[in-house]
Amino acid sequence: MTPFDYTKGQAFLRDRFVPFADATVSIASSPVLYGLSVYTVFSVAWNADQKTLSVFRLQDHYRRLVNSAKIMDFCSFEPAWSYEKFKETMFELIRQNAPEEDVLIRATIFTDGIIAGTKIHSLPHVLAAYVYPVGEILPRGGVHLCVSSWIRNPDNAIPSRAKVNGGYVNSSLMKNEAILNGYDDAIALDAQGHVTEGTVSNIFLVRNGVLITPHVGADILEGITRDSILKIARDMKLPVEERLIDRSELYLADEAFVCGSSARVTPVLSIDKRKIGNGVMGPMSQTLSDAYRVAQRGTAADAYADWRMEVS
Ligand code: PMP
Repeated sequence: MTPFDYTKGQAFLRDRFVPFADATVSIASSPVLYGLSVYTVFSVAWNADQKTLSVFRLQDHYRRLVNSAKIMDFCSFEPAWSYEKFKETMFELIRQNAPEEDVLIRATIFTDGIIAGTKIHSLPHVLAAYVYPVGEILPRGGVHLCVSSWIRNPDNAIPSRAKVNGGYVNSSLMKNEAILNGYDDAIALDAQGHVTEGTVSNIFLVRNGVLITPHVGADILEGITRDSILKIARDMKLPVEERLIDRSELYLADEAFVCGSSARVTPVLSIDKRKIGNGVMGPMSQTLSDAYRVAQRGTAADAYADWRMEVS
């Protein structure tokens, strides 16, 4: 099997499929000049035995994309793109690329105008999408994190719950600082010093047997992996708290992990050089990680079949 080379595959741009190399935008376009685009990334799992591909929580990703567009007043997107049309286009994109490994799809809505200025309303807002390999955005064995000296964009600056490309300058500054200082990634605090999330992931702690994560009003992205973990944990009757987390609680955690469509479930081994738990993936994190993997891939009978859709 040849590894999937997405630069030689097909992409979707505006209203048609084109070779990836031709899926380009102008240097004078609003997404390039001002980051005026929103996106989502969802996973497609390859089942090597059955030679099938299944998409994870597509409707939820569509809904979040539409919500991001609404927050940004990308007003022409939703009327033009029903869920059915979006789904069919994503399925056709997968069929045209026919990967034989786990992949991710990045779907972006951008302001498609060559005009000077930061205008949004009443300009065309169009879709672009491509398929790419899962790769390893974070080391699979676990990560060493620091608390960033940069703070998270507050909701009334660049809303975290809208997945706005321009907002990722904030994540990039944190990630860059973390790497320069010898860490894998960073944890972002808000202006009041509460824990928000990682640079491209949500964060969970386990303290005294309770699974804890910041609530959705805490300047976080409403992550679909976060939501999946919470549902699985509640179904397992694990005690769960969605609430404000102070910085100092990070150092008291018995376990911690970050999660996301690209980050998957990755254990946090240390924070600011302080070992978390035994410095390996903790038992509750392992249980949730395993259950999430089954839910995503459908490798065993589970209660989450409606999260998956086979590409036919
Ligand atoms: N927070 C941020 C800032 C992210 O970029 C991501 C990745 N999309 C997440 C959380 C996790 O979101 P999801 O589980 O929907 O991929």
